Amino acid sequence: GERSGITNRSSKVLLKGMRYDELEKWVQSHGYRPGQALMLWKRIYGNGIWAHHSDQLEGLNKDFKKMLSESAEFKALALKQVITAADGTRKILFTLEDGLVIETVVIPSVASDSRSRNTVCVSSQVGCAMNCQFCYTGRMGLRRNLTAAEIVEQAVFARSLFTSEVGDITNVVFMGMGEPLQNIDNVLKAADIMLHDQGLYFSPRKVTVSTSGLVPQMRRFLKESNCALAVSLNATTDEVRNWIMPINRKYKLDLLLQTLREELRFKSNYKVLFEYVMLAGINDSIEDAKRLADLVQGIPCKINLLSFNPHSGSQFRPTSEEKMVEFRNLLAELGCRVFLRSSRGDDQMAACGQLGNPDVVQAPL
Ligand code: SF4
Repeated sequence: GERSGITNRSSKVLLKGMRYDELEKWVQSHGYRPGQALMLWKRIYGNGIWAHHSDQLEGLNKDFKKMLSESAEFKALALKQVITAADGTRKILFTLEDGLVIETVVIPSVASDSRSRNTVCVSSQVGCAMNCQFCYTGRMGLRRNLTAAEIVEQAVFARSLFTSEVGDITNVVFMGMGEPLQNIDNVLKAADIMLHDQGLYFSPRKVTVSTSGLVPQMRRFLKESNCALAVSLNATTDEVRNWIMPINRKYKLDLLLQTLREELRFKSNYKVLFEYVMLAGINDSIEDAKRLADLVQGIPCKINLLSFNPHSGSQFRPTSEEKMVEFRNLLAELGCRVFLRSSRGDDQMAACGQLGNPDVVQAPL
């Protein structure tokens, strides 16, 4: 059945599944002061310590540590494998408590200056139910939602494993496996935990949640969170989008864009990011560019044009670079803020479903 996400199988409470105020209450309910909760929080998340076990809590009260070792679980993920790709991208495979496997990706910045940006791409579900036709993850269907602890710990692992190699991990993108907004409670909670200023302390605008277009959840996300939003658009007509992104049959383009237009009026200095994976002959015509510029009228936004990363058995082909440049130029002429993403690992990660790691997707589950 559905797991609560608060405790593990041996009924220990999962520390990384709690917001700070929840941790504080829990600590107090065991007879300890809030100050102990703060010290614990800092040792789990802050300042390069990342305690994975109650033995690693120097300076904390002895009885408190004993209580933790009996009632609390520090880890939600088991490290399975790290793969370093030629372009420097690191893939981390984790085994979950129930044996399922997820993938997290760390994308080091190419720039070596102070503006360097290292990104961790986290998964929010095992598999995905949305069935986008260009996506590898979509083929496996949905196995289950990840708990908040399982999501947060991907970011903690990324920092503890790679900060010394690549520098601080500055950005989080929810663009791994899954439709994050189908797991919105846990995603909102995980994002909150990642922002806390005594902990991981990510900046809200550097935490990006992507969606294929779940309209009611998107509305809620924009109301409740200050984190960035990326919407996978990928088509300019309902006909094409109904086909390549079946969620469009439920929430049509007009509704999706009208909702953004409405909700963004209440947010200052906020731009939504539209992802547009270019598929040869499907969504890359001159007419598409014109329609796209029309569709996003009145929505503060940026558009990312992504080259399609073909996987075996795919019915789609990538648009040529030349045509992508033409498409970009036309959009820019029509007044859009538009960016072409190269084929480097990090840029391909700019939409969910771009992981496409057959080793993970095809693993017997
Ligand atoms: Fe799911 Fe994203 Fe893939 Fe669509 S593109 S099937 S929402 S993981």
